[in-house]
Amino acid sequence: MKLKKLLFFNLLIISTLIAQPQFRNKINIPNILGYKTLKCDFHMHTVFSDGDVWPTYRVEEAWRDGLDAIAFTDHLEYQPHKDYIPSNFNAAYNIAKNFADELGLTLIKGAEITRKMPPGHLNAIFIKDGNELIKDDWKAVVEEVKKQGGIIFWNHPSWISQQPDGIAKWYKEHDWLLQTGILFGLEVYNANVYSKETHQWCIDKKLAVLGNSDVHGPLYFEWAAENVAHRPITLVFAKDSREESIKEALLNRRTVIWYNHQLIGSEKFLKALFDSSISINKKSINAIGRETKNFQITNNSDVEFDLKLITDIPNIQFPKEIKILPNKILNLQIRTTKDDLKIKDKIEVKYLVKNMLTEPDKNLIISFPFEIEIEPKLR
Ligand SMILES: [Zn+2]
Ligand SMILES: [Zn+2]
Repeated sequence: MKLKKLLFFNLLIISTLIAQPQFRNKINIPNILGYKTLKCDFHMHTVFSDGDVWPTYRVEEAWRDGLDAIAFTDHLEYQPHKDYIPSNFNAAYNIAKNFADELGLTLIKGAEITRKMPPGHLNAIFIKDGNELIKDDWKAVVEEVKKQGGIIFWNHPSWISQQPDGIAKWYKEHDWLLQTGILFGLEVYNANVYSKETHQWCIDKKLAVLGNSDVHGPLYFEWAAENVAHRPITLVFAKDSREESIKEALLNRRTVIWYNHQLIGSEKFLKALFDSSISINKKSINAIGRETKNFQITNNSDVEFDLKLITDIPNIQFPKEIKILPNKILNLQIRTTKDDLKIKDKIEVKYLVKNMLTEPDKNLIISFPFEIEIEPKLR
């Protein structure tokens, strides 16, 4: 009896130790071009630099948020908590790695090389030993990153603390970085700040576009106030979610930024994302005289698409603006405008996608092909 009672209390204690079930948000963005579409954030801080949260909390946030891979990038040269938490540039990763593995989240070891401009702040990811990166000369740090098999991106080039006018500038130090061969990308979006110059450099210098949170506090403290639903996410098109596959994809610039209802990246990837997300149930339009015809567009993704008609089709009215909401089917109408038409034609109806940017101020153009057959209405 005594033993039974003890067992009962033990079970009670154990059951109260098991946390409530946690839920993961499922981000629905299609895989494209034979690659998996991974949702990633390569820039964040923990208590091991100036962040406010423990490393496992970052992992849980990312998992709940629906991400596939994250990098810890605590500052190497800025350690405001060091009187209370010892400086150890592998600790955050070591603490959270097993938990990340159990959740199926890829955790990448990184560090933020935190220098004045130039070169500014650089994130090294896929490093092996963060403690070996403590050196006076920033170029020696970069050489050490290279030696460890790490790669580097330049963070927030337009950050107003380092560029008071908010305009990013390219220095000779960045030319040197490019020549090392390990500078693979630039942060076009850092938190909620977009840099036009940085975007253009990615195109001109053949670097990957990146959008990262640079989150310091609890994620939802920082993003709850933003009317954008989620942190900046870098979509990476990789063979799978292993570290080496993500690194290969980054070095080959297979990335798109998803933030603020916008997708930013090369035409090839944006077009593939659009084509894999959107389907249309009609390829031909048959009408007799003046008629209204219905057709449906289905959006099989979490991305919203904002279209603006840019072709003028004589005698047939297509919707001028189309907002294709995430995971919805939209019914649309086409109108023929005259009774005495006889048309048999193949047409391409072109739309500009307002929220897909291939270059600064340049949008993706998509087209819907239709076969048109209109007979005159007999009186
Ligand atoms: Zn920084
Ligand atoms: Zn940072």
